[in-house]
Amino acid sequence: MKKIAVLTSGGDAPGMNAAIRAVVRKSIYHGLEIYGIENGFQGLMNGNIRKMEIGSVGDIIQRGGTILFSARSEEFKTPEGQQRGIEQLKKHEIEGLIVIGGDGSFRGAQKLTESGFPCIGIPGTIDNDIPGTDFTIGFDTALNTIIEAIDKIRDTATSHERTYVIEVMGRDAGDLALWAGLADGAESILIPEKKDDFKAVISKLKRGHERGKKHSIIILAEGVGSGFAYGKRIQDATNLETRVTVLGHIQRGGSPTASDRVLASRLGAKAVDLLLAGNGGRVVGIQQNQLVDHDILEILDQKHAINLDMYKLSNELSI
Ligand code: ATP
Repeated sequence: MKKIAVLTSGGDAPGMNAAIRAVVRKSIYHGLEIYGIENGFQGLMNGNIRKMEIGSVGDIIQRGGTILFSARSEEFKTPEGQQRGIEQLKKHEIEGLIVIGGDGSFRGAQKLTESGFPCIGIPGTIDNDIPGTDFTIGFDTALNTIIEAIDKIRDTATSHERTYVIEVMGRDAGDLALWAGLADGAESILIPEKKDDFKAVISKLKRGHERGKKHSIIILAEGVGSGFAYGKRIQDATNLETRVTVLGHIQRGGSPTASDRVLASRLGAKAVDLLLAGNGGRVVGIQQNQLVDHDILEILDQKHAINLDMYKLSNELSI
């Protein structure tokens, strides 16, 4: 293998740049030519392909977002779209592709691999919803952004004796809500993986109020439903002043944490090693601090499992 390429796809995540840097530098280290494809699979079909040099990835390890930009493309889901992508790769004599993104992006990578074009997936999403890895690139940064925001909300919640419902991202996964709730000592955490007990949430709030608690924080994962609707239910049931904050896209931005930069560097390098060893159709990950790789199809068949012991612990600590 002499020439490979890298793209970022789906929702962006802090640390994607650190992964691109690792892919580019590791490739050059091994004497490969490395190409960057802009705007994900859309850019691949359109031929937005440029050669990357050592300097192309200088000064990006600390930057959020992705210098290769990201996109979603319906056309690439069709066999014709995939064929257009393959033609572009052939035109540039590219023999392997690294796809940084979420499970949707891995489906694209799997389709290319099936057509005889080896791809490796790197899990990059703040949601931490990819099976086969304990952490995805961007999760730790998003989590720290949430914690910082909740600490600030807690200050004002205390001054005004309010209940706050904070809606966080995560799509169908509750990891961001669970980790943030545990890290911030939330009264209740609502995640899609566990049906909430509304009565228990209310009685906990009332108990806290009766013993003079100045504020209460409830963290709700977006996969559960609307924070505003839940906030209204809480206020109606308790008569306690309840405010709702939807944190939104600030969770996707910002400089990646040290942890995300290190993870991205390790996974990026591992992906290059796999292509060099002649592998395709694999997704890299980290499990118990060891780098691992799994068959893409296996990953796509599984469902991400949340750590329910942590959920239980959060309830035990917020009595
Ligand atoms: P995130 O978790 O942040 O949303 P994602 O990678 O899951 O990231 P998607 O929008 O689901 O985001 O997928 C990104 C892109 O991958 C799609 O826009 C499409 O181009 C490609 N893709 C998704 N599913 C398929 C498929 N079944 N076949 C081919 N390509 C696909």
